[in-house]
Amino acid sequence: MPEYKTKDQKRTFYKSNAWQVLRQEALVRDNYECQECKRQGKVFTDQHDPDKHKRLDVDHKREIYTHPELALELDNLETLCIRCHNRKHNRFKFKKKKNKWNDERW
Ligand SMILES: [Zn+2]
Ligand SMILES: [Zn+2]
Repeated sequence: MPEYKTKDQKRTFYKSNAWQVLRQEALVRDNYECQECKRQGKVFTDQHDPDKHKRLDVDHKREIYTHPELALELDNLETLCIRCHNRKHNRFKFKKKKNKWNDERW
């Protein structure tokens, strides 16, 4: 079982072909829509915006750090826009507090 605990391990994973292929599958399955925005009823799609794909991330519902066995499970993936993704990890919200999101911790 591979581990994704260090930055290098994660970088290798996110650069891997297997991830790129699966990531694309998740985007197609989710219609290139942020699933969180969708749940909140504000679907974010702009068919004419050539940049839209750049604003979407594919998130692991269960982090690969704690669930490496789910790293390549389509069911564990969810398309999120950058904003929702950051919010999920509290990247901005708690920026100045002590318990800020810490890449190493996940
Ligand atoms: Zn969103
Ligand atoms: Zn994430």
